[in-house]
Amino acid sequence: MTDLPRELRAQLAAELTIGLPHLVHSERSTDGTEKFLLRLADGRHIESVFIPDTPAMTFCISTQVGCAMACAFCLTGKMGLVRNLTAGEIVGQVRVLATTLHFLDRRFNIVLMGMGEPLHNYDETMKALRILGDEHGFAVSPRRVTLSTVGVLPALERLASEPKMPNLAISLHAPTDALRGELVPINRKYGVGEIIAASRRFPLKKRARITFEYVLLAGVNDSPDDAKQLASLLAGVKSKVNLIPLNAAAGISFERPSDEAIDRFAQILADRHLTVSVRKSRGRDIRAACGQLIVEGQRKSPAQRLARELGEAVVEK
Ligand code: SAH
Repeated sequence: MTDLPRELRAQLAAELTIGLPHLVHSERSTDGTEKFLLRLADGRHIESVFIPDTPAMTFCISTQVGCAMACAFCLTGKMGLVRNLTAGEIVGQVRVLATTLHFLDRRFNIVLMGMGEPLHNYDETMKALRILGDEHGFAVSPRRVTLSTVGVLPALERLASEPKMPNLAISLHAPTDALRGELVPINRKYGVGEIIAASRRFPLKKRARITFEYVLLAGVNDSPDDAKQLASLLAGVKSKVNLIPLNAAAGISFERPSDEAIDRFAQILADRHLTVSVRKSRGRDIRAACGQLIVEGQRKSPAQRLARELGEAVVEK
């Protein structure tokens, strides 16, 4: 770019890089779901997933290498947090998937439901969403983007004041603090009541609703009583419930409920006038389903190891 002043060129070269995550390999499930293993510039790895026909085409994108939230049933949580992704690395996943799958000129949805907790990496996630939405970026409408979070309260409040907002999904998983605290450790800091109160205040567009995700674990949170408590908790909240039968994996000490238990749970919610859907598990044969994304052997810092032993989450800056 010799039309730029020499000094500016030197500064750009020193401060910025142009590049994409490197596609190490991809794997396709019998149901068409495809999982991509990507290597970042520093040698860390992440996974992104393409899910066709949901009925839209959906890219499931990561926001962190690993995750600090340590939800009891999630494999990514077992990794701990290795590091935050940059906005470039978040957008880069979309670029690699869209290019590889020949989707650059087609519509697709984006869900921030891969590795990591998007609201635990707020600034870079929001920057990535701005780039993805920009007409010079991918021009993806915010309506096609869903951010899924465990409900990091201060960040959720910040999100509420953003000019352009993605759809919101909150991983609830239990109707009481006692139970949710066991499954989602951050609940000990930001409890169910606070999350529901924040949801009621959340500035939703007309007809928009917050999705509450609820992983069903046999004998843990799938009883008729749990369903009834969930229904009263969400009464009057502009919400829909997405039930996710557990995707079991080695290292996860929970079981998926029977189909009857799942149906019974869903029916109780529906009888109480909640909109409820059951997430179809996709890509389980290639370990690409929810909660199954894990990249082994990425070393943690001593501080992170200690934090995990103490059961706390730390972010490395
Ligand atoms: N950190 C964010 C987004 C990532 S996970 C969040 O927690 O919302 C996307 C969804 O998959 C979450 O609702 C998460 O709880 C769920 N999930 C995690 N492990 C799972 C498993 N083993 N089976 C089914 N769903 C799981």
